Amino acid sequence: MTEPFTPGISPHLMTTYAPPPVTFVRGEGSWLYDPEGKPYLDFLCGLAVTGLGHAHPAVAEAVAAQARTLLHVSNLFGNEIGPEVAATIDRLLGGGGRIFFCNSGAEANECAVKLARKWAGPGRHVVVSAYGSFHGRTLATLHATGQPEKHEMFQPLPEGFRHVAWEDPADLERALDPTVAAVLLEPVQGEGGVNPASAAYLTAVRRICDERGLLLIVDEIQTGLGRTGRWFGFEHAGIRPDVVTLAKALGNGMPIGACWARADVADAFKPGDHGSTFGGQPLATSAARATLRVMEAEDVPARAEAAGRRLRAALEATKGVGQVRGLGLLLAVELIEGEAKAVTRQLLERRPAGLVVNAVTPTALRLAPPLLVSDDEVDQAVAMLDEVLNG
Ligand code: PLP
Repeated sequence: MTEPFTPGISPHLMTTYAPPPVTFVRGEGSWLYDPEGKPYLDFLCGLAVTGLGHAHPAVAEAVAAQARTLLHVSNLFGNEIGPEVAATIDRLLGGGGRIFFCNSGAEANECAVKLARKWAGPGRHVVVSAYGSFHGRTLATLHATGQPEKHEMFQPLPEGFRHVAWEDPADLERALDPTVAAVLLEPVQGEGGVNPASAAYLTAVRRICDERGLLLIVDEIQTGLGRTGRWFGFEHAGIRPDVVTLAKALGNGMPIGACWARADVADAFKPGDHGSTFGGQPLATSAARATLRVMEAEDVPARAEAAGRRLRAALEATKGVGQVRGLGLLLAVELIEGEAKAVTRQLLERRPAGLVVNAVTPTALRLAPPLLVSDDEVDQAVAMLDEVLNG
């Protein structure tokens, strides 16, 4: 006998995630719909992925057309789309670099770590990252992630990672020795609670890397492509990294990651040093090409900056909201009272429409709305939060 089907809950899935509170079957723009047709305003975007909103016509059409044309060729052969997307990303990053395509954020950071080791040479393999950071779930990127409580159950982790206090250049200097190849940082620690790096910190890290001949790798997986109100989070500090990793928003939901490096650094990789079966294949890159075209046409950094200003001001004026932190449309809201998890649940369960956000810490909600969110949707979301917090 087959068991009755409960959407989203399955005995056949590993229990790596808590049972989902709701199952979504459809999305359009800033809205998601459950099997009963109830709408939810999506202010999380699959954790900063669907920046252009759900079912964006240009991305949907590009993916459908590409599926009818050519889904996949291996990297033993060329395709026409990957190089075009790489040129666009390189231009947005200021030029002078090369790109490796992969399928996720963790893979983009794995590429960056391997590249740093190859570039630095034997004996210089250590990557220094910050406490509170998040860089992925593979064994190496888990070790780069500065959250020791996540490490313990998976020891031993790959050697060559070291953590320093966030926002403390002196601690970074103390951690450096001749085995260090690179420093890896997020411009805003996303999973760590939406904590922006100060311009002074990033500038100091850039100077230290220059003085010591280290690579500065900036993880823009959550912050990149307009979310913070600039194309890239590091731009707020006026610095230029040597390596930048991207994923999440790049395919507007199609899995794709990218590791960009200054050309002289990238050239440390020779044929055979790194690879991926699916990385850079036509289906994923067609989604990225369409996504980037819309992002440029809509000037998403400017949109996110303006919408972020409106959202932040409205949140700051809401009773029950303490500190609002973050940049552009990547914000966290400290609750004066109550548990963030309980509030996210109430926001979801609200009728006639729910609001999707997540509890980024026990006391803070994370908001990462679509970059094309309308003023009216911003106002609706804040009204929903006000209703849940203040009755
Ligand atoms: N780096 C940052 C800053 C992230 O926020 C994430 C995911 O949340 C990752 C890396 C890992 O990306 P993925 O889950 O695609 O492997």
